[in-house]
Amino acid sequence: MKTRIVAAVFAAYCLGGIALGQSLELSKLVRQYIRVDAHKVVLAHVRVIDGTGAPALEDQNVTIESGKISAIEKGVDIAAGTGATMLDLRGYSVMPGIVGMHNHLFYIATPNLKTDWNFESPLLVPQMTFSAPRLYLAGGVTTMRTTGSVETYADLNLKSDIDAGKLPGPHLDVTGPYLEGATSYFMQMPHLKNAEDARQTVNYWADRGVTSFKAYMNITRDELKSAIEEAHKRGLKVTGHLCSVTYQEAAELGIDDLEHGFFVNTQLDPDKKLDTCSESAGTYTLEHMTPGSAEAKNLIDLLIKHHVAVTSTLPVFEGGAASFGNGGHVEIRQKALDAMSPQARQDALINQLRFGSFPKPKVDEALLFRNGAALEKEFAEAGGLLIAGPDPTGAGDVVPGFGDQREIELLVGAGFSPAQAIKIATLNGAIYLGRDKQIGSIAVGKNADLVIMKGDPSKNISDVENVEIVFKDGVGYDSMKLLESVRGRYGQY
Ligand SMILES: [Zn+2]
Repeated sequence: MKTRIVAAVFAAYCLGGIALGQSLELSKLVRQYIRVDAHKVVLAHVRVIDGTGAPALEDQNVTIESGKISAIEKGVDIAAGTGATMLDLRGYSVMPGIVGMHNHLFYIATPNLKTDWNFESPLLVPQMTFSAPRLYLAGGVTTMRTTGSVETYADLNLKSDIDAGKLPGPHLDVTGPYLEGATSYFMQMPHLKNAEDARQTVNYWADRGVTSFKAYMNITRDELKSAIEEAHKRGLKVTGHLCSVTYQEAAELGIDDLEHGFFVNTQLDPDKKLDTCSESAGTYTLEHMTPGSAEAKNLIDLLIKHHVAVTSTLPVFEGGAASFGNGGHVEIRQKALDAMSPQARQDALINQLRFGSFPKPKVDEALLFRNGAALEKEFAEAGGLLIAGPDPTGAGDVVPGFGDQREIELLVGAGFSPAQAIKIATLNGAIYLGRDKQIGSIAVGKNADLVIMKGDPSKNISDVENVEIVFKDGVGYDSMKLLESVRGRYGQY
């Protein structure tokens, strides 16, 4: 049962009902999803998990004015006539808006997927410009990197429409088209011909407003090198889901971030040849680079020395670990199933059945998952910048927004405290983006990007799922209404 937040409106809409926290006029469409919109809002008697990793502060009043956090003080009742909208948040917690660092605006479709798990080529990634931004915002994501685009113009136009208040959604760091090498099974990605092609591609998209790049599995060292050089000339960062280039090689070439934790590092794969993806795509290395080993330590030291961040994407691996040959599966939350189109739901459930009946693989997927999670912890403890995102692709069981919450839960499963896990998903992403002066934690003067949820995720991390209101720039969006608006759509558009 959902407990309603009691809103005591003493003097709401003091600017005539249309002016907003950030003095940006929001469209009629966006306004349907707003629950709290006033010049001054007080979140009263709320538990504050500030995103810095500090312990939760009980019973605080957080004041939002003109889209910014203007005060954080001991909880008190606000007297009538103060010109503020007060939300009585006893029993609720507030944390910073999630800064999602591996969040896509597309879905992976496997045409004509059958119960034997066969599907017909080509694998396609339909654009989710309608449903994904709403799901992210509903789940508490207020800033996100698109981490590889397929319809780059759509993502760029979406970003400007969101920023102009025409459409609901998080702030976007739009990543250019995947920088993929000549051999790829993704036909929607550019397949670079050489280093010059990489250089031109980066500049073309940087000219059109893209703010980051992502290298993909079959890129060569030469192509990656020139992409990094061009992006850095323009102050833009490059991340990579790599295979043909090892983590060591990429760090030495100056890459800024590596996707998928330590799950796709190929440096120990026995069949690894220069500039070519190995057969296991990193599984062998993950199995053999045990946490605490000399190889792991050397790699982590190298990454930290070169200031390379690592993005944890545990949800996309969780399904395989639970099920491949182990007979189990990951339970997809009912609300996430409700968001899916009938086809997406059917395909996700078929994949789960298949996983459960799959013959036991040579390598225990559960062991791989434990190694990967432990290496991420080791990296963070050694001083590396660990950031986070769900990667809503894979077998269709990771859904935007829900997956971001799940990532925080899985970081706790990896041994981080709830406060640390929340920091990884919020402030660390802001630090990576160079936006930590404005977003990523709850502090006076920062943008009011805040997630309000029932319960206490500092004690019970699954309470991060109980999101009710998401503030972006001081405007409070109604999570349930956003979810309702995309019911049955995810996977379709
Ligand atoms: Zn991805």
